[in-house]
Amino acid sequence: MTLRPAPPDTGILFRRVGSTAEIRANWVNTIDSPLCTVLSNGEGNTVGTVEHLMAALAGAAVDNVVIELDGREVPIMDGSSAPFLFLIECAGVVQQDAARRAIKVLKEVAVTEDGASAALLPDHGFSMSFEIDFDNPLIRQQDICLVFDAETFKTELSQARTFGLLDELDRLRAAGFARGGSLDNAVVVGPDHVLNAGGLRYADEFVRHKLLDAFGDLYLAGGPLLGAFRGVRSGHSHTRRLVAALFADPEAWRYTTLSRVTQRSMAEWQDGMRLAGD
Ligand SMILES: [Zn+2]
Repeated sequence: MTLRPAPPDTGILFRRVGSTAEIRANWVNTIDSPLCTVLSNGEGNTVGTVEHLMAALAGAAVDNVVIELDGREVPIMDGSSAPFLFLIECAGVVQQDAARRAIKVLKEVAVTEDGASAALLPDHGFSMSFEIDFDNPLIRQQDICLVFDAETFKTELSQARTFGLLDELDRLRAAGFARGGSLDNAVVVGPDHVLNAGGLRYADEFVRHKLLDAFGDLYLAGGPLLGAFRGVRSGHSHTRRLVAALFADPEAWRYTTLSRVTQRSMAEWQDGMRLAGD
């Protein structure tokens, strides 16, 4: 995978090496997939597992980039966003001569299904909360609430890895999924202990990864959101349908132009969002 600079108003575009096909990273191009977020151009070209990269791009406030891939999936790396964020920071980002556009939530929108729910509510800044409840003694109930500022994504979420239960992984492998899954790219939870030698990166790494996934999926709205996300046991499909429900109701959102905002600093970005929101 190669990330290349792109001019203002390009957005986030995936390109398959050796093909002219382009797929815009936008919720309208997502297709149903049980385990990860998949984008499709409707002509047979797909890119899978985009959510951890999208989270890193959102965290680094990158609006315009061309992503070249020589395969059908974004590399899983260590199962988190940290390697992507590290490389983006090493490469550096530049402020472009264009105003940043955010999506302001104007009224509550929610989706509920199978005991799970996801909602967006109006807020002056951007915040997220999440609750999970697993029938596993190592996970159980975890909840988290984060109000985002410049460093929140990097320090609180970026390192949280994908996780799987050991018996579930066996079942997935038998069904042909998760073939590349290993202790190098996921937290594997056994009946009474975490199998990874280093243990967990955060005491509540599981709920933090669920939040990371939702943060990445929300960036498929086409820009940063000005609002509050609430997830309860929700997954990729809920977040996807939530964004669709938001845009389906013209009274639920509006664009907000953020002027004099640098992509270099999320603190300034957040200040800009507050100014624009108030
Ligand atoms: Zn994930």
